[in-house]
Amino acid sequence: RVSVAREIKTARTPGSVIVISAPSGSGKSTLVKRLMASVPGLVFSVSYTTRPRRRGERHGKDYFFVSREQFGRMVAAKEFVEWADVHGQWYGTSEQQIRKAQQAGKDVLLDIDVQGHHQVRRRLPDAVSIFLLPPSFRELERRLRQRHSDAPEVIRRRLQNARREITRWREYDFLVVNNRLSSALRSLQAVVEAIRVRRQAQQQRAQEIQKTFVGGKYE
Ligand code: ADP
Ligand code: 5GP
Repeated sequence: RVSVAREIKTARTPGSVIVISAPSGSGKSTLVKRLMASVPGLVFSVSYTTRPRRRGERHGKDYFFVSREQFGRMVAAKEFVEWADVHGQWYGTSEQQIRKAQQAGKDVLLDIDVQGHHQVRRRLPDAVSIFLLPPSFRELERRLRQRHSDAPEVIRRRLQNARREITRWREYDFLVVNNRLSSALRSLQAVVEAIRVRRQAQQQRAQEIQKTFVGGKYE
């Protein structure tokens, strides 16, 4: 006979979809890496992209790097829950990947841009979203320059894009300012924790617990 504690533990509610967006240079990659490393049960949604692989990036880990032809075929086959043109390259989120993780009871983190978030919100109304903000425009510029990973022209374009993207913070559920890295990380961890105790995420568990109150000694 399975114990009650075991029964409660095995009750499985599908995981949540969590979207994080930020202007380039805000520190999103840094924070997402730390969040993934510190929170168990969180799965990173590996996007498909047509952009070339950067040094140190791994196919299947950071992205699935595909040709425009292959990407186009996936769009036609409706394999993406959302996709967008970001800085002239195509990026898309695999619907199957999300479903699989959710069915396994895992929460899925989507690192996608504001256009992708807009689509996810319409397709998956239960998704929760976080917008990461840099402390100021000047600090964003400083971070992009000191990262030494982009040419001045690319930085200029990213900063121009940032001016547009920053206006969309109102569309998100949570706003986290990345001033001190450690406190921004703490906020992100707290958001994930809060998402996990939402009623929708706990329904099955609450029902199982409620069942244990029926019948027995005091009826
Ligand atoms: P994004 O993924 O948003 O483009 P990165 O994670 O690459 O940004 O961060 C951009 C640069 O800013 C990196 O050099 C990173 O080390 C630095 N950085 C990130 N967070 C902070 C922070 N809180 N304070 C100072 N520098 C930061
Ligand atoms: P990068 O090329 O620097 O890795 O990412 C550029 C931008 O594309 C980032 O804002 C990132 O969040 C976004 N992005 C990455 N994957 C996806 C995706 O699958 N869909 C959308 N819409 N944006 C994505």
